[in-house]
Amino acid sequence: MNITQQDYLQALGIKPWQRRTICHDTAQVQEQAQAEVASEAAPATSNWSTLESCVMQCTACSLHETRTQTVFGVGNRQAKLMIIGEAPGFHEDKQGEPFVGRAGQLLTAMIKSIGLDRSQVFIANILKCRPPNNRDPQADEVAQCTPFLDQQISLIQPQLLLAVGRISAHYLLKTKSSLESLRNKTHCYGENNTPLIVTYHPAYLLRNPIDKKKAYMDLLFTQKLLKDSGEKPHGKITHSDEQTL
Ligand code: URA
Repeated sequence: MNITQQDYLQALGIKPWQRRTICHDTAQVQEQAQAEVASEAAPATSNWSTLESCVMQCTACSLHETRTQTVFGVGNRQAKLMIIGEAPGFHEDKQGEPFVGRAGQLLTAMIKSIGLDRSQVFIANILKCRPPNNRDPQADEVAQCTPFLDQQISLIQPQLLLAVGRISAHYLLKTKSSLESLRNKTHCYGENNTPLIVTYHPAYLLRNPIDKKKAYMDLLFTQKLLKDSGEKPHGKITHSDEQTL
């Protein structure tokens, strides 16, 4: 497919360049540029193949220099449940699929524990490229990359988002609160107010198996919200569903 610069900008949710307020300070310029990239995510105007090609060809941050390949996301494009992790690791970078290493095996088991299969949900990450040595994503990388995630959410229109881990929860909820305090609540994300819940990252659970029980409670909460939405006339989870298990 021949991707034009316009397709690429559209997939990133970036409007054509226009002169804006002049900033004299470099930090201020960078801050403004990041805020613009992050906040101008367009509604679902791209189709999947354009978006996928744009991700594959992306060189917007330095992670493209060290990646083996991009990791777009995998699963059902009409999924009711979309699971959002942090970033590809070693195995994901090699295979081009999210959550395929040890943490991925645990995530698959977590999905199965509520009667679902990987093929029924959509799994994506905040970043589409692996940070070197699996370091935490940097603010500029998140700002450049998350318009792709927003496009995926717009195209899928899931009933529910499940943020796994601190990085994902902090980005999606624009907070620095502890993961513990964010669990067991229905939050919402984006202009469609998509309901969102938070649980532990499977890699954390591998290191802290004592918290697997709490993660299972979060999964039961996920299952309950999905079931409730299936029973509503329009299949929507709303904010009045805010509840704990
Ligand atoms: N951890 C993540 O957050 N995402 C992956 O795809 C793999 C490990």
